[in-house]
Amino acid sequence: MKEQLVTKKILKWYDLNNRSLPWRKNVSLKKRQYYTLVSEFMLQQTQVVTVIPYFNRFIKKIPNFKSLAKIQNKKLIKLWEGLGYYSRARNLKKTAQVVIKNFKGKLPDNFDDLISLPGIGNYTASAILAIAFNKPYIPLDGNIERVLKRYLYLKNEKDIKKNNLIKKKSIFGLSSRSSDYAQALMELGALICKPTNPLCNHCPIIDKCKSFKQKDFNLTKSIKKNIDKYFILKVYKKDQKYLLVKNTKFKFLKNLTIFPMEELSKPKNFNKSLNLKMSNMNMNIKIKYLKNFEKFPSSHWFDKKKLNNHMLPTFTKKVVKYLERN
Ligand code: SF4
Repeated sequence: MKEQLVTKKILKWYDLNNRSLPWRKNVSLKKRQYYTLVSEFMLQQTQVVTVIPYFNRFIKKIPNFKSLAKIQNKKLIKLWEGLGYYSRARNLKKTAQVVIKNFKGKLPDNFDDLISLPGIGNYTASAILAIAFNKPYIPLDGNIERVLKRYLYLKNEKDIKKNNLIKKKSIFGLSSRSSDYAQALMELGALICKPTNPLCNHCPIIDKCKSFKQKDFNLTKSIKKNIDKYFILKVYKKDQKYLLVKNTKFKFLKNLTIFPMEELSKPKNFNKSLNLKMSNMNMNIKIKYLKNFEKFPSSHWFDKKKLNNHMLPTFTKKVVKYLERN
């Protein structure tokens, strides 16, 4: 494969500057597949520095597909606690179960089989094929998108649409070192073409960069609307204990422990007690202190002093903090 000049420059820069990350260790192919899968799931909504200690702990306790497929949900969620977006952990386990059952314990090395696995979409499938299997894919993550937008000076709404970016990424060319190249592009965005104050003087592709020529590094963001939602959160307290339930009702924090809640549609005169954000959901929460206990399926009394010992989602911990302060 004849490499373009831009490809050569980026790879040369990567060889000299790449970070030593735990999932980039020189390991067997089977471990590499597993490490790539786990790290890509963790990195889906979370930054590299946050993921590193979680990844190390996870791999130590759950070192392979076999142990992941069998891990108790409680232990799995405990290891994920604090990373948020818990559906990723559940999907990771389901994927391991399918890999064991249908793919003889090996991660499939083709796009169609990969996207059939729980929690794996187009981006993650491309990232796995490039990183774990050295196939000629360039996964378009936030870092690569930023480099692309700046390099080509893509500013208007039409140009920054996903489909257009997917076409435009061919500007980066391909390399027979696909695994390194995908990571090199991601690394270039993370370390040099940073969201603010890009370090252009250290950038290997500065000579053809249109944003650098224009001296304009501002990025047009596609508008993602925040959705306002309204909830009544019920607080039942007995001695030093709060009543919490397993959430089978809402799509967010599914199967995790929360306070009993009800969603209201466009309420009038809603005096919120608390406002919390979850992804693009703006949660307006009114707290109701109640005395007559209702029966809830899968409910438990949690000692407020011992709440830190329980695997509770950050959302529930934030509510407890608020209750304790007010
Ligand atoms: S020259 Fe600057 S703006 Fe252009 S790609 Fe490199 S770091 Fe980004």
